[in-house]
Amino acid sequence: MKTDLTYDVVVIGGGHAGCEAADAAARAGAQTLLATHKHATIGEMSCNPAIGGLGKGHLVREIDALDGLMGRVIDQAGIQFRLLNRSKGPAVRGPRAQADRALYRAAMQAALAARENLDIVEAAIEDLIVDAEGCVVGVEAADGRRFGAGAVVLTTGTFLKGVIHIGDERTPAGRVGDAPAIGLSDRLYGLGLRMGRLKTGTPARLDGRTIDWDALEMQPADAEPVPFSFLTDRVEVPQISCGITCTNEATHRVIADNLGASAVYGGSIAGRGPRYCPSIEDKVVRFADRSAHQVFLEPEGLDDPTVYPNGISTSLPRAVQQAFIATIKGLERAEIIRHGYAIEYDYVDPRELTPALEVKRAPGLFLAGQINGTTGYEEAGAQGLVAGLNAARRAGGVDAVIFDRSEAYIGVMVDDLVTRGVTEPYRMFTSRAEYRLTLRADNADRRLTQRGIDLGLVGPERASRFHVKRAAVEAALRWARETAITPNDARAHGVRVNQDGRRRSVLDLMALPAVDGVDLETIFPALADLRPDVREQIEIEALYAGYLDRQEADILAFRRDEALNLPGDLDYGAIPGLSAESRQKLADSRPQTLGQASRLEGVTPAALALVAGFVRRAGRAAS
Ligand code: FAD
Repeated sequence: MKTDLTYDVVVIGGGHAGCEAADAAARAGAQTLLATHKHATIGEMSCNPAIGGLGKGHLVREIDALDGLMGRVIDQAGIQFRLLNRSKGPAVRGPRAQADRALYRAAMQAALAARENLDIVEAAIEDLIVDAEGCVVGVEAADGRRFGAGAVVLTTGTFLKGVIHIGDERTPAGRVGDAPAIGLSDRLYGLGLRMGRLKTGTPARLDGRTIDWDALEMQPADAEPVPFSFLTDRVEVPQISCGITCTNEATHRVIADNLGASAVYGGSIAGRGPRYCPSIEDKVVRFADRSAHQVFLEPEGLDDPTVYPNGISTSLPRAVQQAFIATIKGLERAEIIRHGYAIEYDYVDPRELTPALEVKRAPGLFLAGQINGTTGYEEAGAQGLVAGLNAARRAGGVDAVIFDRSEAYIGVMVDDLVTRGVTEPYRMFTSRAEYRLTLRADNADRRLTQRGIDLGLVGPERASRFHVKRAAVEAALRWARETAITPNDARAHGVRVNQDGRRRSVLDLMALPAVDGVDLETIFPALADLRPDVREQIEIEALYAGYLDRQEADILAFRRDEALNLPGDLDYGAIPGLSAESRQKLADSRPQTLGQASRLEGVTPAALALVAGFVRRAGRAAS
């Protein structure tokens, strides 16, 4: 094979998955090439200018804990930080920040430019180079350049055979202004992969200078922005407010009268759309009893008049978009800078992948991001990190690394994807994680950074800050467990506890609903000396103490099942008593562990017991 240059890892695509993949591969020591259409669109936010939210914010913290980029980049670009669910428990709080698009791109591009081991080239990749054994060993660009690779990561987002729809207009495109990827899609079909079509949409962009802001309710940023990255001490970017308005009956009438002209409803799009991010047409039809839907007017940048009206994504014809927008309070005279559209694209059934995100039928090829049927920057970034790390490991001849459901939302997402596949664009929610008291956004570093250090993924600055913080948390926890007062002393300080003679530790007292942390400082002045991030960890441990112990027991049981590997060539037909349905499901998906088998639809606990018994007996017979 003649190639122009050869790398350990070639990443195709400079979107959210591609940036994390390239950065992770380079951090893991691989000579890496990032090949993408345009340097200027690296880190582009194709749709909403925001990072994080419920579940998604957890993913960003985990990427950050493994020294990935997204958290640090949004901290340099966020113009409205808000901690969602602040009034609820820490397990489900979600950091979110609206971004200045240009600052985000610039910070991402600067971070990649500074990375050692990483080259970036502008190229439209048209094909994969596959050797005689069916392994992917390089890529070929439209201009004929060929790059050899020990492993390739494909992160082409919505570009595979992408088609944009506005009313009955159809334009082949990866997103507005970018050509679609056709050759790569044909190659993936040629490899025999199961693929399908999905769709997503985006709203019109408005000129903020034509919005009547005075008529609108405004939502400010948090007074104290909470950064995403464990490395950021303070957010320095100026913070702004966004406007809130809503649709009304007149808006809904315009939309309902024109449903037949919507690409989504006119029947010209077959692919499934994201249920949790529906178009305004969808909302009007599905929630016909609602007379209004909220719209957040989010400025796209500090020096940019463009406003993103969050909540009214649409594929209606241009004139209808203008008409329904004009019915909304504050938008009566709003001018459209760019019309909304829907995009339909190819994705690969993620059940074609191993938990390392490598394509089972094409060793050496890793997939990450929207191509795997997910939606969202955070989901894409997290997969990119897993795929980039594992591509580097494959190129270096070392075993793949898997994050499991008990240690990270990243593990939950990858396991959901490769085990169950998708029927609609997949997005992360806290409800998808069974161990969510343990998998919190606040403790992502405690869960993952040591693992990242062991894998060679984490740089010296983060490693040293992590060690200092971990030592401080451990010392504070020890102190909070060992320092205790009698019930009499507690009462003397105004804390009501049962007079049962049992001494109460700082942790015990913190867990009492009637005690707030400030009062405790009068009893235990040392509390005031704790670093805020250390004190937060102690308070959360106290709050969840009993539950965390119980969850730990569940996690141990889960890990026992995960530890029972199922041989890749296991003959399910030879397992006595297994129902035909279970046998078929197991043979089709070939789970790698008993735990993964347990999450397949239609595989019963009885079937699992039979499989476990069979594999254990076979193991004993062989030893
Ligand atoms: P992308 O960010 O799309 O990046 C793909 C990259 O690959 C680009 O840099 C592109 O130039 C490059 N590339 C593609 N093909 C080639 C090739 N052949 N050669 C070289 N480079 C190539 N997410 C939500 O959560 N909610 C939404 O409402 C939502 N709406 C969306 C609406 C639209 C119109 C679009 C386009 C996306 C929307 N998204 C939404 C999805 C969000 O943009 C993606 O989830 C996220 O960007 C996926 O990241 P990615 O890295 O997989 O792909």
